[in-house]
Amino acid sequence: MSSDPPAETDDYDAAAAAEPQSESALTTARRQLEHAATHLDVDPNFIERLKHPTAVHEVTVPIERDDGSLGVFTGYRAHHDSVRGPYKGGLRYHPGVTREECIGLSMWMTWKCAVMNLPFGGAKGGVVVDPKELSDAENEQLTRRFTQEIRDFIGPKRDIPAPDMGTSAQTMSWIMDAYSMQQGEVIPGVVTGKPPVIGGSYGREAAPGRSVAIIAREACKYYDYPLSETTVAVQGFGSVGANAARLLDDWGATVVAVSDVNGAAYDPDGIDPHAIPEHDEEPEAVTEYASDPISNEDLLTLDVDVLIPAAIGDVITEANADEIRADLVVEGANGPTTFAADAILAERDIPVVPDILANAGGVTVSYFEWLQDINRRAWSLEEVQRELETEMLSAWDDVRAEVESRDVTWRDAAYIVALTRLTEAHGYRGLWP
Ligand code: GLU
Repeated sequence: MSSDPPAETDDYDAAAAAEPQSESALTTARRQLEHAATHLDVDPNFIERLKHPTAVHEVTVPIERDDGSLGVFTGYRAHHDSVRGPYKGGLRYHPGVTREECIGLSMWMTWKCAVMNLPFGGAKGGVVVDPKELSDAENEQLTRRFTQEIRDFIGPKRDIPAPDMGTSAQTMSWIMDAYSMQQGEVIPGVVTGKPPVIGGSYGREAAPGRSVAIIAREACKYYDYPLSETTVAVQGFGSVGANAARLLDDWGATVVAVSDVNGAAYDPDGIDPHAIPEHDEEPEAVTEYASDPISNEDLLTLDVDVLIPAAIGDVITEANADEIRADLVVEGANGPTTFAADAILAERDIPVVPDILANAGGVTVSYFEWLQDINRRAWSLEEVQRELETEMLSAWDDVRAEVESRDVTWRDAAYIVALTRLTEAHGYRGLWP
């Protein structure tokens, strides 16, 4: 691997700096589901079914290390629900990956695809590994062997992986290559998030951050904060955080703080997110830019209009939810707010616009990529951005309508949109005994 494309989501390093995990992704996902279901007149058996994945594939991935020793890693691919289409979701390389985490994250993918009305179900996978400790050659070997181990469970009509924490366009290229070689034909649609030169979509890499910015902009409009008078703090300066911060800055907001695992740059008069390279490009960039860095924990409790947690899950918890001073939270990471913290923020009238809407631009452009692969016709960047804007606004409108008509939180509203579509689909297809 000659170049090293940036990993998709934000700095997984931030995990090291974060509080110990207080609630697993699966616990949060199940509690959110149960809570949202109380607003809907749906068969409780259906909700019970959705608390469980269809299948979780666990594989062992042996590789020969550069020093000749054997490295043995564990990998997972969780399939949650496929009633609306093939399983879809990211693949992460992170030392904290667990079976449970993959299940929780696969559930969020089911809701995310349903909120966006994409013809996909939900999946998530990962390998328990710190990719920083792998050489490029070891990373490639690990990826190819993992692909071989899960080959029977993936495919353009079955399950389509994509980048997530610690994986990148390069990872997707190796998966596509390994899969295509084994199948004996070129199958670009087996993964999304590839480089455009081999069937990837323009705009895919920036899409999750772009959607976070679009949704933050719409939320500001909804709550009457003119962007020109709005201050924003962004936790995480990987792809999601950096792209969201830069777009909001372009649209007139004042980004007062950004952070990575090393700490946060804060200036109440505003900082220039364009002047700071992304964490994956230059890991020390944020703290080098900061004249007087503050901590990640302090960033979360800054007195700003909009807080965007875009690093890792489980950062707004029962322990700090009382101290959040932002007027609005827009989730860039998957699962940054625990169930208990959500309740505290709701009690305090701080709206939280959820991950399954805000960062859904990633999977939406993955869908565009999949269409381009099937049709063997590339879209221009302008076309991708225009379509993404349309899809995000349409999903925003669907969720806003539920907020207004039912007087529920944004998270419950997004779940209601998703669950309504899923229940209807399950109703038609039925449970095959
Ligand atoms: N990993 C991204 C997410 O969490 C994208 C998934 C995809 O494109 O399939 O939404």
